[in-house]
Amino acid sequence: MTVPLRPRMTIPAPVKVWAPGKINIHLGVGAVDDGFHELATVFQALNLGETLTLIPGGTRTIIIQGRYADAAVPRDESNVARRAVDLLITALEDDRDVAVLRDLDIVIDKQVPVAGGMGGGSADAAAALVGAAHLVGGVDEAILHECAVAVGADVAFLLRGGTAIGHGRGEKLSPVLTRGTFHWVMATSASPLPTPDVYARFDELNPDPAPATVPDRVLTALAAGEPDTLAESAANDLTEAAVSFMPEIAEVMEAGRDAGALLPLLSGSGPTIGFLARDAHHALDLAVLLQATRGVNEALRTTGPAPGAHIVDGS
Ligand code: ATP
Repeated sequence: MTVPLRPRMTIPAPVKVWAPGKINIHLGVGAVDDGFHELATVFQALNLGETLTLIPGGTRTIIIQGRYADAAVPRDESNVARRAVDLLITALEDDRDVAVLRDLDIVIDKQVPVAGGMGGGSADAAAALVGAAHLVGGVDEAILHECAVAVGADVAFLLRGGTAIGHGRGEKLSPVLTRGTFHWVMATSASPLPTPDVYARFDELNPDPAPATVPDRVLTALAAGEPDTLAESAANDLTEAAVSFMPEIAEVMEAGRDAGALLPLLSGSGPTIGFLARDAHHALDLAVLLQATRGVNEALRTTGPAPGAHIVDGS
């Protein structure tokens, strides 16, 4: 009697994906609409990002390693990288074979500070979507965008990278023309600042906010590659709210200005502060000074714009 052989399943090779962190070069916050604040923001993707390895044939384990592998990052199903993959499974499973995505192990090399307003978790979600799409042989961009928005407003931008205006919750994107490289020093804080708390304080401080806009001068300065002009026109409407929780944010901003930074800018809802430098040398000087400033945990040098989430190793 011949025993029919079952076809051997081959497990695809792991895929490695990189995704950028971000700074909000401008963040205009308007009134609440449908439960969310109306935003008018300019995102810039940074060359400071996260690397994820998606390993098929595993046990749905999440391993966090790297510079910011701290305890606040969930290792369970609530990790946004896992949520992103699960959303993609749901979006595809009626028409496609998604078995390879169900048992993925995910290794996250965390290089973006956690809860720092630099979109670290969102970068993980963007990277997970790109890696998962690769493992199933490619996914329509519109489906990826939908899954990204379902995980979090910033994820859609980090899929694309570059520099972009974000409207709505930040998910309605249009690209922004920029010239040259912008040099940033990101001053992190030892304590996190939860985003919902900052928005709640913004509401208390601004019961009737003006409609959120991006000043034309911000866009002109970006297109011309003029950091000085940018410094005169960009702002973050959440600054006052963030400072009300952490007065040291204002002190660190002042110290950066004194040290010659063109523009101290709260990144997202903080507490990380981005300092715009004139060039790479200036960024190095600034980083040295800021590293020695009270209230600064680390002064990280980076540049933008950076590319969006992309495969760095996958066969
Ligand atoms: P954003 O700028 O997008 O508002 P953030 O940079 O301020 O985000 P994150 O680092 O993304 O903040 O993390 C916010 C919270 O999300 C964390 O405190 C943690 O509880 C949760 N979280 C879930 N998944 C992740 C992840 N992969 N990395 C980091 N935090 C995660």
